[in-house]
Amino acid sequence: MKFNKQLDGIKTYEAGKPIELVVREFGIEPKDIVKLASNENPYGCSQTVKDAVSKIVGNMALYPDDSMLKLKNALSGYYGVTNDNLIIGSGSDQVIEFAIHAKAHAGTKILMNKITFAMYEIYAKHVGAEVIRTDSIHHDLEQFYALYLKHKPEMIFLCTPNNPTGDCNDASDVYEFLAKIDKETLVVVDGAYMEYAAFKNKNKKIDPKNLIETFENVIFLGTFSKAYGLGGMRVGYGIANPLIIKELYKLRPPFNITTLSLEAASVALGDQDFVHDCIESCFSEMKRYEEFAKERKIDIIESYTNFITLCLNQDSDATKISNALLQKGMIVRNLSSYNMNAIRVTIGKPEQNTRFFELFSELL
Ligand SMILES: *Cc1c(COP(=O)(O)O)cnc(C)c1O
Repeated sequence: MKFNKQLDGIKTYEAGKPIELVVREFGIEPKDIVKLASNENPYGCSQTVKDAVSKIVGNMALYPDDSMLKLKNALSGYYGVTNDNLIIGSGSDQVIEFAIHAKAHAGTKILMNKITFAMYEIYAKHVGAEVIRTDSIHHDLEQFYALYLKHKPEMIFLCTPNNPTGDCNDASDVYEFLAKIDKETLVVVDGAYMEYAAFKNKNKKIDPKNLIETFENVIFLGTFSKAYGLGGMRVGYGIANPLIIKELYKLRPPFNITTLSLEAASVALGDQDFVHDCIESCFSEMKRYEEFAKERKIDIIESYTNFITLCLNQDSDATKISNALLQKGMIVRNLSSYNMNAIRVTIGKPEQNTRFFELFSELL
């Protein structure tokens, strides 16, 4: 059977390996498996969120509130925007899909960083768009601008902080760049880890309200999967000028978020103390990784997220190391598919990180 030609060039997205797979493949007990592969919050969500979801767990027969009013009110209150600046997706992944499908088609050019979130390219290929990439690991905005002048892309992706590298541009540099981009170009600012960056260094913080008021052609993306500890609930959002949101809405399937997910996300947003404590723990644990890497002369990329990228020396191979870790029940992300001899490790709880240091040391 023939399928769309665009699909031929797509490599299926490789998600972080689930615990279930390690149980099946290596016969390791779930309690002995540590997953530091998908940048989830190791503390999950707060008890308040769990209680709220438990209370409505019986409400599964009816479709969810498709206006998503409770979550929109929570988000617009938190960010100081209005509800018509918001679109909710099944993860911000879905909003990326809406944005690309709304703006790009065969022949459209989409500019992005050399190494960045893999889904941008996959959705770009769905519609036959052409991906233009910089040649620098970090977002080099001068290079972005040069490529913008050369190719006149219809869309640009800035992932700040960037996944899978963890580095982050200063907000002022992002603004300076955006000011030079014409209003016909849709720029996606993916802030999946913005909570972490804003905590670590206020110069990195991009405020979505100010961003979209300054630039009518920009959409900011956020997610509940990372700092909010709700990866399993699949909730993300886009914040933009209503004219952009209106177009993206045309692509949204009805009821794209479950009743339980809407409740979880709405309540989680109100529990900022919990999120703050998790982020604080993340950065204090990250110091242990930095010291560990320094002692072993492994290069790291300074991270503004809840993960750290260890750039391995030539004598260790990222694929071999991550497979060996996997056999011992430690799941990390091998970055060799990004052409980096590196592994990305989500910052876990103290005891999970200790386990990583032990296992990794054995392998070196
Ligand atoms: C995790 C992540 C997302 C999307 O996560 P969802 O779970 O789909 O909300 C988007 N962008 C980046 C850079 C991410 O790391």
